[in-house]
Amino acid sequence: MKAEIISVGSELTSGQNLDTNSQWLSQRLAEIGISVGWHTTIADDLVDDVAAFRVAAQRAALVLITGGLGPTQDDLTRDALARLAEVELVFHQPSFDHIQQLFAQRHRSMPERNRVQALFPAGAEPIPNAYGTAPGIWMSVGRISNPSHCIVVAMPGVPSEMKAMFDEQVRERLLSLNPAGGVLTQRKINCFGAGESAIEQKIMDLTRRGHSPEVGITASDATISLRILARAANLLEAQLQMLPVEMTIRERLGSLVFGEEEEELQDAVIGLLQERRQTVATAESVTAGLVAHRLGQVPGASACLLGGIVAYDTRIKTELLGVPQSLIQEHGVISAAVVEAMAVGCRSRFGADFALSTVGLAGPGGGTPEKPVGLVYAGLAWDAGVASRSYNWLGTRAEIQSRTAKLALNSLRLHLLQMPE
Ligand code: ATP
Ligand code: MG
Repeated sequence: MKAEIISVGSELTSGQNLDTNSQWLSQRLAEIGISVGWHTTIADDLVDDVAAFRVAAQRAALVLITGGLGPTQDDLTRDALARLAEVELVFHQPSFDHIQQLFAQRHRSMPERNRVQALFPAGAEPIPNAYGTAPGIWMSVGRISNPSHCIVVAMPGVPSEMKAMFDEQVRERLLSLNPAGGVLTQRKINCFGAGESAIEQKIMDLTRRGHSPEVGITASDATISLRILARAANLLEAQLQMLPVEMTIRERLGSLVFGEEEEELQDAVIGLLQERRQTVATAESVTAGLVAHRLGQVPGASACLLGGIVAYDTRIKTELLGVPQSLIQEHGVISAAVVEAMAVGCRSRFGADFALSTVGLAGPGGGTPEKPVGLVYAGLAWDAGVASRSYNWLGTRAEIQSRTAKLALNSLRLHLLQMPE
């Protein structure tokens, strides 16, 4: 059974508000084994709504709609559903009584417009709304005897009302439609240090179409995530399906894997430092404090993060960090020699076990053929030495800064992984 989720509202298509209902509903449907093939967002427009509902009812076995059930003129979902099914709207007294009662409870008189919320396409079933005036609508489009008939469920757009209606009423009914549905479970494994295609090269056999469980790969700001999606009768079976795949991925990718689910590089770094009771300080030029900021986001960072210097100006690099002027003249600021000298100076000044440093050109202007925009260096100093990594990022200023911060965090992570505890 494949589902489509439709969000109705001009505030969504105009970009004013983000459609979070679809995201939430997709996650709930996965939990009961229903996969979602389409998300559609439409403005408050009757002709467009009917057209979109028609397309959905043809391709999906289940269509969940949110929004457009209010009492105002731009709330058109019930009219659009009646047109889709080619039926009249009929009045439903119990729904009307409920709406009136909601107003009476708050000692307000019911505006005439709210009467439309008690209208339903003929043959549809009202879904009571305990938290608002808009009842939901449950209907079947096409004859039940026809295998291609489609269940259409319309719910309020207000997220709290939609969620309550789904949890308390719709989920149960969907389960009875899809008794062998099982569960769809996801696991996310996060990697850094190689490109999307280089990572995929190592696990081609797992990401191929039709592999079970399904393995997908997505890149976000130089972090590559692998998503394992398993379908099984229950959660335990799904987890048993995913386990060998996850082990294979971890084996093949080794230290490229830094975490899972929502974990970031800084979580891994702080975790490793905490285990070893060691400390870090930062000296940041191109990232202007981003490395320290990310480390500071992790609960418990205060035990490991001593502090940092935003060493943007050359004078700060020489006076505060002790980078020799001659080194800057010889190599230029954006160089391995300078970033390493910054790390060494930072480590000794803060009395830290490790120091991370960054230099680079975030652009958009100022690039030369030898030192193009995106060229960055990340330095790492420790008790027995210093090293640096260089990279040439493509991207906007913000992306180059963010990725350089990741490069720096990752260099410390890899160093800590190699060191005996
Ligand atoms: P209802 O069917 O509950 O009357 P409606 O479409 O008539 O819904 P609106 O007044 O358009 O209600 O929207 C109510 C609130 O719900 C608004 O703040 C709107 O942004 C929010 N909302 C509607 N749809 C979504 C959605 N898909 N995701 C997140 N918020 C939404
Ligand atoms: Mg709306």
